[in-house]
Amino acid sequence: MRRKIVAGNWKMNYGLIQTESLIVELKKQTKSSDAEVMIAPTFTNLWHAFEATRRHDIEVIAQNMHFAQQGAYTGEISAGMLKSIGIQTVILGHSERRAYFNETDEALAKKINTGLENDMDMIFCFGEELADRKAGNQEAVVESQIKNALFHLEADAFKHIILAYEPVWAIGTGETATPEQAQEMHAFIRKTLASKYGQKVAESVSILYGGSVKPNNAKEIFSKPDVDGGLIGGASLKAEDFFAIVNAI
Ligand code: PEP
Repeated sequence: MRRKIVAGNWKMNYGLIQTESLIVELKKQTKSSDAEVMIAPTFTNLWHAFEATRRHDIEVIAQNMHFAQQGAYTGEISAGMLKSIGIQTVILGHSERRAYFNETDEALAKKINTGLENDMDMIFCFGEELADRKAGNQEAVVESQIKNALFHLEADAFKHIILAYEPVWAIGTGETATPEQAQEMHAFIRKTLASKYGQKVAESVSILYGGSVKPNNAKEIFSKPDVDGGLIGGASLKAEDFFAIVNAI
């Protein structure tokens, strides 16, 4: 059975005190679904968040990492550093990293390799821009993002990969893909994986949807057969909203 996951990407929000408060609130919430719950605070709060959630069903994950194992990369964080504080999972290729920090598919392929060398799990994000969708090119764009960053891998590597389809036009905009648009794309992604790795691998990979998922639309989106959960931005910053989304699975 595929993993069902709801992951909160806190982005560059919340210092230590607010992180502490949000975790206290999260720990008060009860989970009525089988979904795995993940939160991604900023780097400086990872260790605190990891310690604070130790005996709870919440996995603390990172928002990014560098592709090099170590060295002269001022300001960067390595996979080994994340592992050294107990972090097992990292988000890679978020559209904000691609847009503001020039992360290319090629650089992301290197990060994926580094993650695998360090036995990490990765949430690999991708998705088309509004102009791509308007031109009807969304499938071609998504296919090339997946192929460029992942198709050099052996089938076995997909045990460590979670995919997150995040149409850029839906991130932080209040605009959501319809459940039908999400299902259509997720089915296409699975077909793309199957074309190279076979149906068994394609069926085993969890594909999350991200883009303005809120308590009022989560249930419908998650009800689609190829949607295995969500990557949540804005709504993950409030414990009640985040758990309403977790419980929508
Ligand atoms: C995201 O940044 O991954 C995201 C999905 O953000 P939001 O939920 O705010 O659209």
